[in-house]
Amino acid sequence: MTELYADVTGQPDAVALLKRAVARPVHAYLFLGPAGSGKRAAARSFAAALVCPDGGLHANGSSTCESCRRALAGMHPDVVSVEREGAFIGMSAAREAVRSAHVSPLESQRKVIVLHDFHLVRDTGPALLKTVEEPPSTTVFVILADFLPPELVTIASRCVEVGFSPLTIDQVAEVLAAGGVDPRRAHLLATAAAGRLDRAASLASDPEVEARRDAWYSIPARLDESNVTAASIADELIALLESSASPLVARHLEERTNLAEANRRASEVMGAPKRTKGSRAAKGGKAGGPAMAELDDRQRREARRQRADELRAGLAVLAGAYRDRLAASAGAENAQRARIDSEDALNAVGLVEKCARDLEFNPGELLALQALLARLSHRR
Ligand SMILES: [Zn+2]
Repeated sequence: MTELYADVTGQPDAVALLKRAVARPVHAYLFLGPAGSGKRAAARSFAAALVCPDGGLHANGSSTCESCRRALAGMHPDVVSVEREGAFIGMSAAREAVRSAHVSPLESQRKVIVLHDFHLVRDTGPALLKTVEEPPSTTVFVILADFLPPELVTIASRCVEVGFSPLTIDQVAEVLAAGGVDPRRAHLLATAAAGRLDRAASLASDPEVEARRDAWYSIPARLDESNVTAASIADELIALLESSASPLVARHLEERTNLAEANRRASEVMGAPKRTKGSRAAKGGKAGGPAMAELDDRQRREARRQRADELRAGLAVLAGAYRDRLAASAGAENAQRARIDSEDALNAVGLVEKCARDLEFNPGELLALQALLARLSHRR
């Protein structure tokens, strides 16, 4: 990256605020905004500017200095990133943050502590509160959170809040295209990710994205006034929904394996009695401990969110397919026919959008899709 904040897309207000803040920073900033909105990238640049001898403003015409480049690469000793080790911010991460905050800066005039995923803070909030409230004068906290859970409200009230808004689909597509993804595919991925940059980036490696999009897009052409066809398409869509979770399922499995391994090592260090094969642990019951229960919770939420995102993206593609028909009917030669077609397409868009709204409150996906497709078949 040649310039600070060059990789932060679509957040001009946040970036302007951070650039102004570098001259006289307060002791804590809360970056608040949805996942994939650029908080992490902004925190990298802000931290680099805070520890830069020139405050990120380089007089010699070069846009980053040696200190900035090391900070951006995560190799500056005065920028400390605290990541959660499991599903939540655990005690050890909180202690690490507190300890780092009290170590004097080595090279720069300041020490920057970046706390990631802080919406996942739980009972560790109080342990951190005192340090975040009154850190040593050289320390600046940068706290990143997707949303504000009750546990974070007190800490948040001690921070300057920097808001990050959700990105538009075009903005996400631009970022992907700039990163070398073919522009057509970039737009498809951005749409499928509903404007979440992190999700779009992970979809970029999913070879089935196009096939799923085609399945949704081809629905209007496949419907034939028969309820049997409508029901079988609905079944297909649900199967696609299941298979879209495969990359997530693989990641979850890896996380569980890693945590189980970490638990095993920890229990060896603590000298806990070794469990034998038939014990609760070996059977994978609730013996994984609180960390495993938290991981289960988070994975379940992620799976639900992925499914909802995927379904919403599919319905958006379907509405888009009817909109394309609407545009095509406008160019038809027979005016009467064109009017009927366009009314048809417009009604269909309305039905699809209503179904998407209904699904927000009613998780009966298969029934909702069956009903939608039956309605769409009979209004041709
Ligand atoms: Zn610099």
